[in-house]
Amino acid sequence: MIPPTLTAATCALLLASASAAAPPAPKDVMAAISQDYVRTAVDTLAAFGTRHSLSDATSPTRGIGAARNWLKGQFESFNPPSGTLTVHFEEFQPPVGGRIAKPVTFVNVVAVLPGTMPESAHRRIYVVGHYDSMPSDVMDPDSDAPGANDDGSGTVAVLAIARALAATPCEATVVFLCTAGEEQGLIGAKYHAEQAAARKESITAVLSNDIVGDPWGPGGDKSRATPYAIRLFSEGIPRNPSAAQLQTIRALAAESDSPSRQLARYVAEVAAIEDTVVRPMLVFRLDRFLRGGDHSAFNEAGFAAVRFTEVDEDYRHQHQTPRLEPGPDGTPVQYGDLPEHVDAEYLANVARLNAAALVHLANAPAAPAAARIITAKLEYTTTLRWSANREPDVAGYEVVWRQTTDAVWTGVKDVGNVTEATIDQNKDNVFFGIRAYDCHGYRSLVAFPAAARD
Ligand SMILES: [Zn+2]
Repeated sequence: MIPPTLTAATCALLLASASAAAPPAPKDVMAAISQDYVRTAVDTLAAFGTRHSLSDATSPTRGIGAARNWLKGQFESFNPPSGTLTVHFEEFQPPVGGRIAKPVTFVNVVAVLPGTMPESAHRRIYVVGHYDSMPSDVMDPDSDAPGANDDGSGTVAVLAIARALAATPCEATVVFLCTAGEEQGLIGAKYHAEQAAARKESITAVLSNDIVGDPWGPGGDKSRATPYAIRLFSEGIPRNPSAAQLQTIRALAAESDSPSRQLARYVAEVAAIEDTVVRPMLVFRLDRFLRGGDHSAFNEAGFAAVRFTEVDEDYRHQHQTPRLEPGPDGTPVQYGDLPEHVDAEYLANVARLNAAALVHLANAPAAPAAARIITAKLEYTTTLRWSANREPDVAGYEVVWRQTTDAVWTGVKDVGNVTEATIDQNKDNVFFGIRAYDCHGYRSLVAFPAAARD
């Protein structure tokens, strides 16, 4: 793992000339995430009875309408006096068919914390959870579907981070998104991601949290479970690459260097730097078998997105109408996604891991543009070039590398505030990456270089 140290001699000068205020410290944001709040919020979401996307939208106490009104009110309550957090409903009518039996309005709840640095505010960093739920039959909008873990847990992670961060905006824009219609086929996330792509928005990272509240596994066997790990899924090859894209991936051997995979590696590095209690277990695939999630809707729209999910899921607690059924030895087994199966301490720690990654991502510079390895002639060293970043607090760049068989970056060299570096290693033998760092010590996502003659 790359050490969390860097030096920047010119920073005092740069900081004096930078327009943005000091960004929030990750440790402070993590400390502000309250386990008590997490507990209460999960219980509150489950108490709406069902949050099925076609459930009653008019009752003040039951169904998806009551749930989204409560979510909107929570986000609004986090905004301090003279705060800048804005909250809105994103409403649309999905086509009838498939898992949507009748005309309905789907509503995503969106809270936006605008970035403070003019050069960074256009970049948007997302944290996502889906607030809808389902009973055993996905077409049944009436039966109880408490959805405490799927995905009350992810929704509450989004809330808890917004609550901790709302008073201290970051340099880039942070978006807190609670989607509807996930169980109906990722409908809310697809709509949001496609709209964002059509507006040419610059979404540089999406952290989707879906089933992140129960580390104990089937049967609650505490001897085999770990409350210290969470799976982090990332795609390798995009879903619908163009022929040219595929050609580039093949030529560079970039099968494991998609933007989503760089994002997954980034989260793992932040976890080490910030010494988080829960650490990501990187899984280099899009998702589990037979399952899907909102992150893939963002992937399909062309954005880097990853999925957090607990390590050892209990399938009796997912997509099941609450009930007791006799088990193999006759003792009753509880089915259903009930709040007592969500561990608030674990969930708060998952939210802290997300918050740490979010604060780093949203205060770091952009990944360097036009990153390339110079392949003009055969040589034993490797020359890399890239474009200079625009942010006024950029202090320099690092070249990172790893063996082609390694999962994460293992080598790093601080090359200073330049746009070209030559590394004493043969480009044929390792993978290289380039990242920018700023005066606060925040590093950008890694840019995976193309190959070019100059
Ligand atoms: Zn889910």
